[in-house]
Amino acid sequence: MSAPPPGVYLPQAWGGLPGARWRRRRFGRDVLEVRADVVVVGSGAGGGVVAAELAEAGVDVVVVEEGGWAGTEDFGPDAGRALRGLYRDAGMRMALGVPPVLFSEGRCVGGSTVINGGMTWRTPERILDGWALDDGVEHIRAKDMERWFERVERRVSAGRQADWSIGRDNQLLAEGAAKLGWHTVKNIRNQLHCAGSNNCAFGCPTGAKRSVILSYLPRALAFGARVLAGARVDRVLFDGRRATGVEGPGFRVRANRTVVCGGAVQTPALLQTSGVRSRSGNLGRRLSLHPNIKLVALMREPVRGWQGVHQAFQVEEHGDSEGLRLAAVNVPPSLTAMTLPMYGAELARVMGRYDHMVVAGMLMEDSVYGRVRAVGGTPVTTYQVTDDDGRRLVRGASLLAELLFEVGAEEIILPFEGVPSLKSVDDARALTDQTVALSKMELVTVHIMGTAAMGSDPTRHVCDSYGGVYDADSLFVADASLFPGPIGINPMETIMALATRVASRLIESS
Ligand SMILES: Cc1cc2nc3c(=O)[nH]c(=O)nc-3n(C[C@H](O)[C@H](O)[C@H](O)COP(=O)(O)OP(=O)(O)OC[C@H]3O[C@@H](n4cnc5c(N)ncnc54)[C@H](O)[C@@H]3O)c2cc1C
Ligand code: SF4
Repeated sequence: MSAPPPGVYLPQAWGGLPGARWRRRRFGRDVLEVRADVVVVGSGAGGGVVAAELAEAGVDVVVVEEGGWAGTEDFGPDAGRALRGLYRDAGMRMALGVPPVLFSEGRCVGGSTVINGGMTWRTPERILDGWALDDGVEHIRAKDMERWFERVERRVSAGRQADWSIGRDNQLLAEGAAKLGWHTVKNIRNQLHCAGSNNCAFGCPTGAKRSVILSYLPRALAFGARVLAGARVDRVLFDGRRATGVEGPGFRVRANRTVVCGGAVQTPALLQTSGVRSRSGNLGRRLSLHPNIKLVALMREPVRGWQGVHQAFQVEEHGDSEGLRLAAVNVPPSLTAMTLPMYGAELARVMGRYDHMVVAGMLMEDSVYGRVRAVGGTPVTTYQVTDDDGRRLVRGASLLAELLFEVGAEEIILPFEGVPSLKSVDDARALTDQTVALSKMELVTVHIMGTAAMGSDPTRHVCDSYGGVYDADSLFVADASLFPGPIGINPMETIMALATRVASRLIESS
């Protein structure tokens, strides 16, 4: 891996962290001790933003990040290397249930923003209205959030894709939707001069994707933030109710305020392990996942789906009405082959037509909550899809298949074990009425939200409207955990806007 920028300290260089000193121990490991006004746990969409905003306002910040450093020159098409280096548990984490849901989290400086698709959407107005009305979140309506969204969009260079960066798989998706008269939007992404190399999930090799390491982190470092990388926080420290910093193997950071931004799985587990008890009983609960299914379509024409940015379009026709959103998401051959429900000659036949494939996905706004529990310090995630949501997943597959047959699909392979491939638009429509056992579904997700929900009521919510943990002092959350419920679209911009808002409140109270 390349050397980190000045200001980011890997374990072998921790001793160089300004203001830090080693406390020598006679037995056991020496401990690096450092003081800060604010310690931020995690450097992803939430932590990276909080750190930059605070540092820019002159606040003394130390960021503690479990993952290591990787920069633009380290990124390339080697999926295995990226999964091992940038993803937690190589991207193979499961929410337990029937079926289990495979989910991914980033673990590196920059967090999941380094490996995400770059979709940059504001929170839908109906969702913000719901958070205001049902959860009593203050100043959360679209007009209140406007300035935070605008600030984030400027920082991450949110914009539409240039047409030449869009590949044939995405054009086919848009053409299919147009034929059916379905409303489609061109995605907004955090990119500048995207080359359409389709490597977003393994790190952007051109620097076009303005992930945290290229947008917020350089600002944070320029304004004096210090980043302790390769440092997993095991515990938030307390003096009575008051958080006084964090510690992990080989380090301790003392701080006046602690902001936890480990993501919606790690954050509740860390708080639970540290002894935080929320009188709401909801710490770790209210977990939403946006379960996804993926279809593999073999098309009449060559597609070469690896050329061009993924998810250039989103089919919105069934978004607000049914909570179902469709997109084309090319997946490398190794990972595609791994998940196809076939083997031997049949697998060889299908993979032999990789250049004719469109891999398309459907994201569902879920109607049920799961839970995260720390067991021995490790988060265990449980989530049970309901029969109703199961039917919606089948309906989504049917819609997506219908669209793909409109533009020349010859065969569509479903993520439902035992359900034969679809060969015609009639097959696609008939799928809607079919019952598919939940246990036969293959579900994945990359959106994890809502395990330390914000709101006005300490008996229902873990955090107040600005991320302050109700049942502790000087302790804040500023990541995807804050969502009171699912948002139905890609969550990064919402997280960044909420983190900006939390930082602004911390600055006001400095
Ligand atoms: C493959 C993939 C594609 C995605 N595509 C999109 C997309 O196109 N658009 C979109 O809006 N969203 C997308 N998302 C989701 C989005 O990236 C996440 O929702 C968002 O980054 C979450 O922000 P966060 O701050 O909550 O957590 P993260 O960004 O995951 O950051 C958490 C950080 O905290 C660190 N950490 C955790 N626990 C500890 C600890 N105990 N001690 C120290 N450090 C710790 C982690 O290592 C990590 O770096 C995608 C996600 C993935 C994985
Ligand atoms: S598609 Fe664009 S943003 Fe994604 S990795 Fe390639 S150049 Fe970067």
